[in-house]
Amino acid sequence: MSDAETLFERIIAGEIPSDKVYEDATTYAFRDIAPQARVHVLVVPKKRYRNLAELASGDPQLLADVASTARKVAEIEGIAESGYRVVFNTDGDAGQTVFHVHAHVLGGEQLGHFGR
Ligand code: 5GP
Repeated sequence: MSDAETLFERIIAGEIPSDKVYEDATTYAFRDIAPQARVHVLVVPKKRYRNLAELASGDPQLLADVASTARKVAEIEGIAESGYRVVFNTDGDAGQTVFHVHAHVLGGEQLGHFGR
């Protein structure tokens, strides 16, 4: 496995420090090292799937857990009412760099349009 595949497994294991926001039996949420908004938290399933499509077909319940944790993160961060964005970058054109599926939870300010 490449470094980009193992990075989040090492963060979940505590081998690489992270700023944890929330953890339960199946998911781990921590602040992005290069935040793109005032709130920018990554939600990662503890079991590694490469991307959203593989997670959705491989373990739909775990995908539901990731969605539920994204909601919990929004509540913890105080942005559940003001609004927030959940993003799964998938492969090349989307710029995915870590091939362990993760949701970006972004908010805490008015976000710009996305896309090009
Ligand atoms: P992707 O580009 O794959 O959708 O998102 C990967 C995210 O992981 C990026 O937003 C990047 O800033 C974040 N990231 C990369 N390395 C680390 C790290 O070591 N710690 C933390 N907290 N975030 C990281």
